[in-house]
Amino acid sequence: MARIVMKFGGTSVANVERIRQAARHVKREVEAGHEVAVVVSAMAGKTNELVGWCTEASPMHDAREYDAVVASGEQVTAGLMAIVLSDMGVQSRSYAGWQVPIRTDDSHGSARITDVDPKNLDERMSSGWVPVVTGFQGISDKNRITTLGRGGSDTSAVAVAAAVKADRCDIYTDVDGVYTTDPRIAPRAKRLERVSFEEMLEMASLGAKVLQTRSVELAMAQGVRLVVRSSFEDPNAGDAPGSEWGQTGTLVCDEEEIMEKQIVSGVTLARAEAKITLRKVKDKPGVAASVFGPLADARIVVDMIVQNISDDGQITDITFTVPDSEFDKAMKVLKSAPDLEYESISGSKGGAKISVIGVGMRSHAGVAASMFRALSDKGINIQLITTSEIKTSVLIDEEYAELAVRALHTYYGLDKADAQ
Ligand code: ADP
Ligand code: ASP
Ligand code: MG
Repeated sequence: MARIVMKFGGTSVANVERIRQAARHVKREVEAGHEVAVVVSAMAGKTNELVGWCTEASPMHDAREYDAVVASGEQVTAGLMAIVLSDMGVQSRSYAGWQVPIRTDDSHGSARITDVDPKNLDERMSSGWVPVVTGFQGISDKNRITTLGRGGSDTSAVAVAAAVKADRCDIYTDVDGVYTTDPRIAPRAKRLERVSFEEMLEMASLGAKVLQTRSVELAMAQGVRLVVRSSFEDPNAGDAPGSEWGQTGTLVCDEEEIMEKQIVSGVTLARAEAKITLRKVKDKPGVAASVFGPLADARIVVDMIVQNISDDGQITDITFTVPDSEFDKAMKVLKSAPDLEYESISGSKGGAKISVIGVGMRSHAGVAASMFRALSDKGINIQLITTSEIKTSVLIDEEYAELAVRALHTYYGLDKADAQ
C-alpha cells in the first residue's frame, strides 16, 4: 500500500465528463489499496475568465479581492470531484484551502505556502476516504483567501504530498509526461523517461509550463517523487511492465537516479519578453543599483541583464528584459528614477527567449557556440545571451521563436526517431 497525491489540471477537469474520467483514475488507485488525496485545478479557461472579470470590474482592483474571485474556480471542481467519486462508490469529501488549512504568506496573487496542516487529510485518508483539495489557494495569517500564482495547483499538490508524507505525487495533465520541448510546438518532441529536479527547474522557469517552477523547487527541497502523466489514458489499461507507477509518464527525480545523461535534455520558449536599453549611463559603482533598485521597488521582475564594457571607463550601456506586460510601467519607473543619469532610453516588446538545458553542459564545452551556429544557419539574429551552468538562453525576435525551437531540437538530436 502506498500513499499517493493525484493532481488534475484544468483540461483534465474541463467538464463533468472529464471529471468522471479523472475520478476513474482515482478509483483505480483506491481499489489497488492505496491511500489517496486529490488536488484539483479549475476547469480549463475558468481562471482566465475570472481574471478577466476582475479587470473588467476595475483595472486597478485590490489584490485581496482578486484572490477572492479567482480562487472560486477550484472550489467548483473540488465539490464536483467529490460528488462524482461518491457516485462511483468512493467515499470523498472536498476541502477548500482554508479548511485544510493550507497556510500562506499574504503576497496576494503570488502567495507562498508556509505550512500545510496534515491532520484533517491524514484522518480522512487513513479511514479510507479521499479528500479532494482545491489547488492554487490558501489562507493568510490575516484570515484572507490567497492564490499562489498561475499554474499554482502543481505547487499545492506537492505541498500536500510533503505534508501527508506521500510516496508519490502524480501530476495528471493533457500530455503523458515531460517532453524535450513543448510538443505543441515541435511534434517531433520526445517524452523523457526521467528528468532531474535541476533540469526540470530550469525548464519550468524558462517557459515549459507543464509544471509550475515553485512546485519543482518544493519537490526538490522536500524530496517528493513527482510523476507527470496523462489523465486521457484509459484508467484501466493495466500496468505497463516494469513501470513504478503503472502507465507512461515522466519521473522527476534526483540526478543520481538518471543513468544516461544527455548533454542537452530540453529546449524551451518563453514569449512576450520586452527589451530595454539605457545608453551612456555612468560607469561607476552604484549605477546598476540605481537602475534595478527602483524596478525592484515597483515589483517588476527583471530577467536577462547585459552591461557593456566601456571603452573609456566613463560611460556604458545597460540592456535588460522584462515581461511585455511590465514594459510600459518599467519605462515610466526609469524615466522618473531619482539618481539615474543616462543619455537615452529605448526599448521594444515582442522578444522571445529560447533556452537549451542539460546537466551534461557541466562537462561539455561548446554548447553555447553550437547553439549560436545553429541559429545563424537559419538566419536568426541573437539580441541577448545569458548562460548558467546547465543552460544557455538567447533573446530573439518572437516571429522566429518556433522556427528556432524546432531547429535547435533537431540540431541537438532530440527529434523522435520515427518522425524523421
Ligand atoms: P494543466 O492544466 O494540466 O496544469 P498546463 O497547460 O499547465 O496543464 O501544462 C501542460 C501543457 O504544458 C502541455 O499541454 C504542453 O503544451 C505544455 N508544455 C510546455 N512545455 C512542455 C514540455 N517540455 N513537456 C510537456 N508539456 C509541455
Ligand atoms: N487554475 C489556476 C490557473 O489557471 C491554477 C492551475 O491551473 O494550476 O492558473
Ligand atoms: Mg498547469
